[in-house]
Amino acid sequence: MSVTADGASHGSPDTAAEARRRRTFAVISHPDAGKSTLTEALALHAAAITSAGAVHGKGERRGVTSDWMDMERARGISITSAALRIDYDDCVLNLLDTPGHADFSEDTYRVLAAVDCAIMLLDSAKGLEPQTLKLFDVCRARSVPVITFVNKWDRPGREPLELLDEIEQRIGLRPTPLNWPVGIAGDFRGLIDRSAGDTYTKMHRTPGGATRAEEQPLSHADAAETEGAVWAQSLEELELLGEIGADYDEESFLAGKSSPVLFGAALPNFGVAQLLRTLVRLAPPPSAEADEKGRPRPVDAPFSGLVFKMQANMDKAHRDRMAFVRVCSGRFERGMVLTHASTGRPFATKYSQAVFGSERQTIDTAYPGDVIALVNAHSLRVGDTLFDGPEVHFPPIPSFAPEHFAVARALDAGRYKQFRRGIEQMDAEGVVQVLTSDVRGEQAPVLAAVGPLQFDVVKHRMEQEFRAPIELAHIDYNVARRTDAASAPVLHGLSGAEVLKRRSDGELLMLVHNKWRLKVIERDHPEAVMEPLLAGG
Ligand code: GDP
Repeated sequence: MSVTADGASHGSPDTAAEARRRRTFAVISHPDAGKSTLTEALALHAAAITSAGAVHGKGERRGVTSDWMDMERARGISITSAALRIDYDDCVLNLLDTPGHADFSEDTYRVLAAVDCAIMLLDSAKGLEPQTLKLFDVCRARSVPVITFVNKWDRPGREPLELLDEIEQRIGLRPTPLNWPVGIAGDFRGLIDRSAGDTYTKMHRTPGGATRAEEQPLSHADAAETEGAVWAQSLEELELLGEIGADYDEESFLAGKSSPVLFGAALPNFGVAQLLRTLVRLAPPPSAEADEKGRPRPVDAPFSGLVFKMQANMDKAHRDRMAFVRVCSGRFERGMVLTHASTGRPFATKYSQAVFGSERQTIDTAYPGDVIALVNAHSLRVGDTLFDGPEVHFPPIPSFAPEHFAVARALDAGRYKQFRRGIEQMDAEGVVQVLTSDVRGEQAPVLAAVGPLQFDVVKHRMEQEFRAPIELAHIDYNVARRTDAASAPVLHGLSGAEVLKRRSDGELLMLVHNKWRLKVIERDHPEAVMEPLLAGG
């Protein structure tokens, strides 16, 4: 990195090369599809390979992963996880956590603004499930390329062709299988690698998936003998795939229109090595990010980064506020003084960290695609840009369709000032969306969330941080639509509906009891504006 007379630093030539080594992705799935298991399996495979049999190294890596997982499992409301770095085959894979599970929240969606690719993880017995569909909607809206991993093939499940059909019919994503299972789900024999000249690998179970699955290549002649009828059936299916042209196509994959599909089983970690290879070979590295006006900022331009997540009080002892930043361009060096685009103020990065599970490590350098955590980030907000050198503003992260609504009231009227300040803060940080209306009055704002856990976070923080305990009364709305000033008076008086203003951006939202009521309103008022919001709803 060179520093010019005006103090601006520029990315060094190796920034572009480092960016090319990065793969930054997230796993989108429904609870129980196997996200935690797959994450462990990815780390296990990568560790086993990079440390080349060094037991010590392997042990350490597993420790890191397990910490992360323990935290996931024992998730309290003040805990988060951010990114897991996996070194594999001269690539750096950054797996960004999508806090999914039962505590689905807006954070889950926002992570998808910070990745270059997503793995859509399906349970072979269940296919596409609601949470996966919602997350997929966000990927589609942002044209994020999606790799599909059909998991739990070692258990009884559905036919592979039927699953492919479901993907194509329900979400319009053209599936292009990279491998093909031999044996039906539940009687899984092995995988044919379509991307490597149809080589066949027989599955070997490892007890509990504790160690790396052995991959045993078999010739087609041997396979025909050992696997019998199921082998012939798989070959027939493969032929069919060839005939219908279900072959990998880079252009449509990168445009988010087709999806390479892998079958496998995360628990016995079978097919996981091919998923790693697929990430390295096919997933796109970071590329020039467009600013608000659509102008691309090359990865080797001076530093720029996007705040995609804020977390308060990760560390109880410190009461800090942490911002997770995805590096978009340039080389990050700890100590750099950046500019906070929305205020123009300097932001010191002396205390930047990489966060792996509950362990915090100080990070000195980071490249496009990496995630850094900035502590004491009280002035930063989700969607903010930080930069060095020429000014850049990345477009804001969209807000998503809330499905849960509650009226907040201060329990202690004497603490109203703190109550107001706290609600303002929750809004600014994007913990929940805050809606107001003249009818309800300022003392009773409506909080809107995509997942109910967001309410718990607000309740907890209002009490702990602002000493302004609140009571939340849930209100019976399920659907939100964007409307405008002309339509608002028409819609507001209708039964089962109400129009409120979103504090953060002044948008008018119509809340409706449910989608049936919405249908009736749409029928009766075709002239009124009622636009869907992104995802959810
Ligand atoms: P998450 O909620 O998506 O993180 O799912 P988990 O990783 O916790 O997995 C949910 C359950 O499915 C656990 O009991 C796992 O052991 C099990 N599971 C995950 N992957 C597989 C697999 O490939 N085969 C089988 N048989 N079970 C699996």
